[in-house]
Amino acid sequence: MTGLDHPRTNPDKIEVTVPAAALVIRHAQCSNGCLLMSPDVTIGGHSAIHVHARYGAVEGDVYLDPAYGSFEHRSALEIPDGSVVSFSCPNCGVSLEVVEKFCNSCSAPLFVMRLPRNGSIEGCTRKGCFAHRLEVRDLGAQVVRLCQESQMDGYL
Ligand SMILES: [Zn+2]
Ligand SMILES: [Zn+2]
Repeated sequence: MTGLDHPRTNPDKIEVTVPAAALVIRHAQCSNGCLLMSPDVTIGGHSAIHVHARYGAVEGDVYLDPAYGSFEHRSALEIPDGSVVSFSCPNCGVSLEVVEKFCNSCSAPLFVMRLPRNGSIEGCTRKGCFAHRLEVRDLGAQVVRLCQESQMDGYL
């Protein structure tokens, strides 16, 4: 029988939703492989994720909360809530924006950071929008243990 809807599934790609702050990103990189972690600035006791942000004529450092689902980001920049900000790598300058991918909640462009083992984390570039998604590939059997932080450490 034809005409049935087959869900499009990709066995190599797993998207997960996890409890707020249960996971901490420890090895975020730009697309050129620069490590974005900043040991000098900690949020909640963890090294923050350092990115360069630009909003109109305003630009400077932004430190993102590395705890997934937590949003205690730090920055001296004065950026009004609701503004769309451009993120780039503070080391090599490459843009972190994802081409032609937009936030499900507010349609702003997404930014992406690479994680070890082909994982990635995407977030919305609109200040105050908390939509984000963690994508981890090649997890295999580990997926059943996603909520246990210790099992995810090697992937973050
Ligand atoms: Zn870089
Ligand atoms: Zn958004």
